[in-house]
Amino acid sequence: MSWTARLLTLFPEMFPGPLGHSLAGRALARGQWTLEAIDIRDHATGRHRSVDDAPFGGGAGMVMRPDVIDAAAEAAALSGAPLIVLTPRGRPLTQARVASLAAGPGVVLLCGRYEGIDQRVIEARSMEELSIGDYVLSGGEPAAMVLLDAVVRLLPGVMGAEESGEEESFSSGLLEYPHYTRPALWKGRAVPEVLLGGNHAAIAEWRQAEAERITRERRPDLWAAWQALADAAPTA
Ligand code: SAM
Repeated sequence: MSWTARLLTLFPEMFPGPLGHSLAGRALARGQWTLEAIDIRDHATGRHRSVDDAPFGGGAGMVMRPDVIDAAAEAAALSGAPLIVLTPRGRPLTQARVASLAAGPGVVLLCGRYEGIDQRVIEARSMEELSIGDYVLSGGEPAAMVLLDAVVRLLPGVMGAEESGEEESFSSGLLEYPHYTRPALWKGRAVPEVLLGGNHAAIAEWRQAEAERITRERRPDLWAAWQALADAAPTA
């Protein structure tokens, strides 16, 4: 069975959406991964088939009901795959988590709407809470698409050699160095001299120095972690 993504959503028609195009879309068409969008509303019972209700304790907005989410999660369970809920309250999604998901059989993703999901079902189902960043979206679907886009490109055979992810941002703990292509002179801006010389050792050195400079300037958190790793590494 190919790597499988099951989505629990109130908007199944949003999928595959952007994931049906380009790299992820080609991989989907080739059967390198499978996407199943499950409508949470199909698991609502009662006369009005409501999926949400007012929050205990008062406040604005509605909360997704635990019984409905539980029934949908039961129907979506995928052997060996984690059940992840996208939420701004979750731990930040990292490239390391993306890579570990790509190494597994798949994932079940729960997309929230409204104010969020009743906490009891999150705990009862031992869901992993993940955030894609420190900002608030109107729903979990775009967050699920971000996660899947990042995972699918790492599945075996999805990226060609020319798209290899070996030197990308985060893979070494640093942000990536800048890229340049033709023309060598554009609007008076020249490409860094070293890249035109064909000296591979000098190019590698320049790229490493640029990756370090950019990480130091833009992401002090990543820079501190990288330095700590470098300090801990045994010297030859
Ligand atoms: N009241 C919630 C809060 O302040 O944490 C925000 C709810 S948001 C309007 C609705 C849904 O969008 C959430 O349940 C979640 O599924 C999704 N969402 C919003 N921002 C997100 C983020 N940064 N990462 C992942 N999911 C997010």
